[in-house]
Amino acid sequence: MTSPLASRFAPSPTGSLHLGNLRTALYAWLVARRAGGRFVLRIEDTDRMRSDEAKIAELIEDLTWLGLDWDGGPGQDDGTGPYRQSERAASHEAAFGKLLAGGHAYPCYCTEEELEAERQSALRQKRPPRYSGRCAVLDAAGRAAREAEGRRASLRFRLPPGQRLAWDDLVRGPQSFRSDDLGDFVIRRADGSAAFLSSNAIDDAAMGITLVLRGEDHVANTPRQRVLIEALGATPPQYAHLPLLVGPQHAPLSKRDGAMSVRSLRERGYLPGAVANLLLRLGHSGAEDGYHEVAAMPAQFDLKALGHAPAHVDELQLNHWQHEALLRCEDAALVDWVRGKTPAGLELATVATLRKNILLKADAERWCGRLYGSLEDPDAEARSVLAAAGPAFFDALLAAGACDYDALVTAAKGTGAKGKGLFQPLRLALTGTLEGPELRPVLALMPPELIRTRFERARALSTV
Ligand code: GLU
Ligand code: ZN
Repeated sequence: MTSPLASRFAPSPTGSLHLGNLRTALYAWLVARRAGGRFVLRIEDTDRMRSDEAKIAELIEDLTWLGLDWDGGPGQDDGTGPYRQSERAASHEAAFGKLLAGGHAYPCYCTEEELEAERQSALRQKRPPRYSGRCAVLDAAGRAAREAEGRRASLRFRLPPGQRLAWDDLVRGPQSFRSDDLGDFVIRRADGSAAFLSSNAIDDAAMGITLVLRGEDHVANTPRQRVLIEALGATPPQYAHLPLLVGPQHAPLSKRDGAMSVRSLRERGYLPGAVANLLLRLGHSGAEDGYHEVAAMPAQFDLKALGHAPAHVDELQLNHWQHEALLRCEDAALVDWVRGKTPAGLELATVATLRKNILLKADAERWCGRLYGSLEDPDAEARSVLAAAGPAFFDALLAAGACDYDALVTAAKGTGAKGKGLFQPLRLALTGTLEGPELRPVLALMPPELIRTRFERARALSTV
């Protein structure tokens, strides 16, 4: 019997999620949902110095924002918890005990200085700087002697010598490392804490994870983690290592790349559907063309359609999907963009009027300024349009008596103006720009006193 697929996302909450992390999370979720399997969110918060609650909360919020959910994870129990690595120390200890008992681990008494000296001498001799294994051969007396010196031992995994550690990576194809090239690695630090390689692998095994989908920066960890899981008597998951995302300068995206942090994209107004549709295509070619709702994406995802090449994040593509997402979203989803920037109660009507003319929050803010605030100085083109209309045109608008669209157009027509000669100066006077939303709803939104002020301003400009 084959076990149902279980995938996971295992972020370390040490910084804000960037697009690369979010893609990993999305793909791991998609693959589980596609297979009708399980998706687990495990917070790898053992690096306590650098993890904090606010970061964990932010992480959960970003994943939820995208539309992901989990079967096991914070706030949701599938019986494989706890879901914070810092709460799984007992399970790590049990695994260490098992590895020790099976002869797969041994205490290492080397100090940092000794290890560093060993590393330096290997480098001088142009050998790969890996642990020599000198504590692997200590007998009971040798250990006792070191303990008597007051040394505290770390625990190392004993790699089987002379083996090929191989697996078939679902993205990269067959992978193989020589165990002799790797060196016995620390699984528990001298201070008693579990090291990344071991805690991550022990948790995957204990949580029944069958597919690890993660960034290719982890490829070199996989042979060690597979052999460790096998030593525990478990079956290693399958692995799929995604190529890195590269940014505008073809440099890898990193957590420090603030512009591509999920948080900053959200703050700029990118919608979850836009980000998800971009990510669905970044190194994955299995989706049909066109916009897909996140909930419908599992059917569009195919593990076999993952590419090997670094995927290029392109802001134009993101903006294309933002446009598509905007076409489909409710006015209410955009109300935050204008909150506090419209007269009270006009938020929704403002969004409805502007939505075809804006892509991001900054566009909405610029338009709120035009509708309710002040205008920038006119450029040469604007000046010439206003001058061509002449003061009589604006006098007529000021004399119209009402500020609705029909009254103003009638008054303007009374001056003999028509077509472009009517609508361009009217639009410029009102909004300071020749493009934008329909004037009828614009006029319905703007306060009448502001409309009159705008006409007076335009009149003054038209005479210079
Ligand atoms: N905490 C690790 C990271 O964020 C997990 C890697 C993995 O998915 O195994 O890089
Ligand atoms: Zn040692």
